[in-house]
Amino acid sequence: MRLKDKVALITGGGSGIGRASSLLFAAEGAQVVVVDIDDSGGNETAELVGAQGGQAVYLHADVSQAADCQKMVQLAESAYGKLNVLFNNAGIMHSADADAVATEEAIWDLTMNVNLKGVFLGCKYGIPALRRAGGGSVINTASFVALVGAATPQLAYTASKGGVLALSRELAVVHAREHIRVNALCPGPLRTELLMKFLDTEAKKERRLVHIPMGRFGDQREIAAAALYLASDESSFVTGTAFMVDGGLSAAYVTPQ
Ligand code: NAD
Repeated sequence: MRLKDKVALITGGGSGIGRASSLLFAAEGAQVVVVDIDDSGGNETAELVGAQGGQAVYLHADVSQAADCQKMVQLAESAYGKLNVLFNNAGIMHSADADAVATEEAIWDLTMNVNLKGVFLGCKYGIPALRRAGGGSVINTASFVALVGAATPQLAYTASKGGVLALSRELAVVHAREHIRVNALCPGPLRTELLMKFLDTEAKKERRLVHIPMGRFGDQREIAAAALYLASDESSFVTGTAFMVDGGLSAAYVTPQ
């Protein structure tokens, strides 16, 4: 059991990476607070955890709202006594997110509020709880687009994920002596609803696949496995990373240092 006696809070737990991570973390012994705005998905995740013999509780909370982020952290402490792992994973990729000329200001603001401000608020209220627990692990879901430009434009999304990466690095440095580790998890393109809805034609999917050395989209469970490593004490000397889980995509673009 790699997360025995740990309490984990996972935002966006009603679907995709968040659901796969909730199931995996619980199977490894964690008590899980599943957070989402999709009540049917969130409740279903908590039920699936229960069905496999684990412990999870679902909370409706919008990560772009400070009061909701306060509530989710309070729930971890009231339901399970503490918080050890904060997985700020909720994110959106709007279908109307495009290039600078075409992207509406409202889409920019919405994307920033959920993807970047949501991570800030999670940390704002979660880090004091990690301190109270004597330390812990923060995992912020960024993306490969925080490092390389995507061929199909999604400017607000890309900028938000760049912000998540920069924010995570600084928090890692600031909180290192408090035994709080902070890593930005950077998935490559996955076969989840989020991306498949955005790449809504075969041509768009093919265009993205060209850039992945492995020649396939990733699976949410492959990201959950990486999150498990970052959540567990096995990664006790790992902080401030852009933790790439991308089928080699960034290696194919970035010039080796
Ligand atoms: P998903 O759409 O399957 O899951 C995201 C979940 O977040 C959904 O259940 C949704 O209801 C929830 N959510 C959305 N807005 C919310 C809010 N304001 N408050 C709380 N919950 C909210 O997507 P996924 O692929 O599992 O994505 C998870 C994370 O991984 C996101 O941050 C995404 O940007 C990132 N990511 C995904 C990919 C990919 O290819 N799918 C690649 C890189 C990074």
